[in-house]
Amino acid sequence: MKRTLKYALLSILLLLVFVPADARRNRKKAAEPQVKYVFYMIGDGMGINQVIGAEQYNAGTGYGPEEINFAHFPVRNFITTVSATSLVTDSAAGGTALATGVKTYNNAVGVDADGNSVSNLVEWAKDAGYGTGVATNVGVNHATPACFIAHTAQRGSYEEIAFQYLHAPVDFAAGAGFITERNTGHDAAFFETEARGAGIRILRGPGQFEGIENIPGRVLCLSGKAQTELPYAIDRKEDDTKLSDFVEAGIRYLDAKYGEKGFFFMIEGGRIDNGGHADDGAACFQEVNDFAEAIDVVLAFKDLHPDETLIVVTADHETGGLELGSGQYEMHPDRMATQTMSMDAVNTRFREAFYPPRQQGGQGQGRGQRPQGQGSRPQGQGGPQPQQEYTPPTWDQVKDFFSDNLGLWTTVTVDRRAEASLKAIYDSTFGAGGNRENNVENLYSINTTLVSDAIGYLNRTAGYQWSHGAHTGSPVGLYVTGSGAEAFIPVTDNTQIAPIIANLAGYNK
Ligand SMILES: [Zn+2]
Repeated sequence: MKRTLKYALLSILLLLVFVPADARRNRKKAAEPQVKYVFYMIGDGMGINQVIGAEQYNAGTGYGPEEINFAHFPVRNFITTVSATSLVTDSAAGGTALATGVKTYNNAVGVDADGNSVSNLVEWAKDAGYGTGVATNVGVNHATPACFIAHTAQRGSYEEIAFQYLHAPVDFAAGAGFITERNTGHDAAFFETEARGAGIRILRGPGQFEGIENIPGRVLCLSGKAQTELPYAIDRKEDDTKLSDFVEAGIRYLDAKYGEKGFFFMIEGGRIDNGGHADDGAACFQEVNDFAEAIDVVLAFKDLHPDETLIVVTADHETGGLELGSGQYEMHPDRMATQTMSMDAVNTRFREAFYPPRQQGGQGQGRGQRPQGQGSRPQGQGGPQPQQEYTPPTWDQVKDFFSDNLGLWTTVTVDRRAEASLKAIYDSTFGAGGNRENNVENLYSINTTLVSDAIGYLNRTAGYQWSHGAHTGSPVGLYVTGSGAEAFIPVTDNTQIAPIIANLAGYNK
């Protein structure tokens, strides 16, 4: 009897040794997915240089951690971002590739190159019974989140995307607010009413996020203020909502309802891209920090569930053509410390100081007001009213402004060439026959050329050189940690990520 038992044990042992390890793993995987909680974090416009640049900036200025959490995840890779129609993608085609694994044309949301709907990770996860969440610090219906909740031929169809969100299989959604289109008669409140009508509970601002875990149905978290994007981190005030508020609320909600089964949560750092479009290094780097702060919240959840959590961080494309180094074999990131607000905010102050009251429009308009880049123009371009007294600023006044607001000529040396260049812009803006509306326009904001170039100089003297205000075809980083992270080592393109997540988490793709 004893002998039989011994032989039986021996044969089990032999079986374990001789059944290949892969086969054993596969059997286990078929029974139970390897990953229960998936966090898919997308930094919009966050190229590799935006991440490394932010670490340099933080080390030089002390405005953030010298090591950005995700930049040191155990699996680090880079991916190509080309769309079906261009070597340079936009956020819609990039987001569709990340959400569905399918290449499409620029501007397409959740449809393939022929315009057919393609299913996405949120739909696959919900179909398999998992909880689903989508959060962003820009509009709920802006391109990147749209790729996880809608299918439209054009990203500019904001209202169609908002209507589709009402019936999308997403339990938790968060964003600054709804972006509306012109001349439809709809405002953000209209879509909030529609959402309530669809049974979605709306919570405004972190104060209302308390107790979110007890809400039975779908939830939409919005900014505490009427906004289509949360303020830049560099401009944030005490009572502003921030991305990590959304992430904390989303995790509490999803864990309470789907902690047993598991959940999928996409989180976008949407304003990194805005800083890149404006060539505003300080705003951009502090957005990378803000995104990393949201990832800290996710990492704290992973600490509680180390064997069941997967965190994938990547980007849809690079924005601005950011170079590290501007001609000299040295960089001085510490020189950026004197910029304490975004270019948009400096521009607002500049116009308040030096333009007639009626002409103070034209500073960074919310991206919601500027669908498809057809921006609102500064108002009152016809010049001051005849009866108004207006005296243009002197060059010394303008220099004083840049000293007070950016530290130029005081903390940061301005070389003769740069000063001559700024003075020439001053002359063509405020001099005799000059054009006061001498502006630099990008997809999301319009700034006076003087402010744009003053900050451009500050960036260059620190060693950060921007190539332009649009996207590039540069590869972006892929940073993965947690259960199943090694599966991303072979990845080379943005379409390969979604199927791997689906496979690891047991979604019905
Ligand atoms: Zn962009």
